[in-house]
Amino acid sequence: MGQPFSRRQLLQRASLLGACLALPARSLWADSASTPRPMPWRNWSGAQSCLPLERLAPASLDELVQVIRQAPGKIRPVGSGHSFSALVPTDGTLLSLSHFSGLLAHDRQTLQAEFAGGTPMAQMGAPLQAVGQALINMADIDYQTLAGAIATSTHGTGIAFGSYSAQVCGLQLVSAAGEVLDCSRERNPELFDAARVSLGALGVVTRVRLQNRGAYRLRERQWLARTEELLEDVDNLKRDNQHWEMLVVTHSDYALAVALNETEDPSTPPLPPDEEGGNGFIGLIEGLDKHLSDYPELRRSLLNNMRHLASFEERVGDSHEIFANVRNVRFNEMEYSVPAEHGPACLREILKRIDDGNLRTWFPIEYRYVKADDIPLSMFEGRDSCAISVHQHYAMDHHNFFAAIEPIFWKYQGRPHWGKLHSLGARQLQALYPRWQAFTEVRQALDPRGRFVNAHLAGLFGLA
Ligand SMILES: Cc1cc2nc3c(=O)[nH]c(=O)nc-3n(C[C@H](O)[C@H](O)[C@H](O)COP(=O)(O)OP(=O)(O)OC[C@H]3O[C@@H](n4cnc5c(N)ncnc54)[C@H](O)[C@@H]3O)c2cc1C
Repeated sequence: MGQPFSRRQLLQRASLLGACLALPARSLWADSASTPRPMPWRNWSGAQSCLPLERLAPASLDELVQVIRQAPGKIRPVGSGHSFSALVPTDGTLLSLSHFSGLLAHDRQTLQAEFAGGTPMAQMGAPLQAVGQALINMADIDYQTLAGAIATSTHGTGIAFGSYSAQVCGLQLVSAAGEVLDCSRERNPELFDAARVSLGALGVVTRVRLQNRGAYRLRERQWLARTEELLEDVDNLKRDNQHWEMLVVTHSDYALAVALNETEDPSTPPLPPDEEGGNGFIGLIEGLDKHLSDYPELRRSLLNNMRHLASFEERVGDSHEIFANVRNVRFNEMEYSVPAEHGPACLREILKRIDDGNLRTWFPIEYRYVKADDIPLSMFEGRDSCAISVHQHYAMDHHNFFAAIEPIFWKYQGRPHWGKLHSLGARQLQALYPRWQAFTEVRQALDPRGRFVNAHLAGLFGLA
């Protein structure tokens, strides 16, 4: 066995690796031919990684077309790396659209706006507000890129609101053959349908036109209540609030309910940075898991009593500021969407399994609602849905925990979030999606050689 590293050596090697990971992707294919130097990639949680042959960030549409035409092997587009599943990893060419960013056009009449595909969602709120627009709904973070978010039907909460993909009214992509294709309901409608949730399997999305609404402010109200009481009242809560969700504290009887509703009231001052990520609370429940998991009754009692320590200030602000949260404790996640009416039963069964098995987990379970849409590969296709997510701290093993919960989602006809961890393959997935065939035909026609298919996608689509 080799000598163990000293702490200093370890730090030196870690900083070297860190510097390597932080290197910007080079912009030209030609650059790399002279100095081949693989740069590792990993996702936000650290569970997915790869060593691509090339990491490229073309600076223009022409350069992107050239790169796609000339890439020697497989190609995978990457956004902000915030997917938990293995959608991105490749040993071929990893393509970032970091130079394709910003607001390109807007229409004051229709309240539509077009953004470059690589635009980080966090950089959309302010320019939209400047032209009197806002996104209709948002996810609980805004670190994703626009093209990355629509590729997986990323969503927020609110039974009257679809995912980001449901707001897309036009997009442009570059296919495996290097063709630049524009699509909308009127133009290339079959491609449009498939490309609104594409898993990055149809090509590289360069522009996205979204249906927005007039700018607005939201009031956020949070309160702790017994999970069972919230579930009994869930029909009222989801109907009476524009955006309602709950974060269920596992191994306790309580959940944090969050309601966002439109208001004309003035904005409240921003939260101090240390309160933004909810770190104090997360630290407490993590500590209880570490020290008291062998004493479930005591842990439950302490967790239940933590509600007496909690107090919540209401917040008012521009919609994009209120929707977006800070998530600075890393985790892995599995999420399934079940038909909305099955949400309460599915959650109750998950909580029972966690309690009966005293399963090791401490991250809250997220419980949200999403409106039905008409997109072939959207988790919300044809049905109003309840999205339920279970999490595990990145340093704890998630496999056993997720494997214990996943069959409960199957029982309720759950469809897995494409960007989150699950174990389904082509056979099970096509049974869950009535318009599966429509998507796979478009994919096959656009990319017959599977240049955009990595190992994970091959499993999803049943390709050799
Ligand atoms: C902390 C955290 C919170 C999250 N919260 C939510 C949430 O509230 N709601 C929710 O639904 N999801 C949530 N997610 C999941 C996340 O929104 C999705 O996985 C999303 O797809 C990630 O976007 P990204 O820009 O990071 O893309 P990546 O993860 O880098 O890529 C995702 C997919 O998009 C494709 N892609 C990227 N760019 C392009 C392009 N230009 N053209 C074509 N395809 C492209 C990739 O090939 C891949 O298939 C969360 C994830 C994390 C880590």
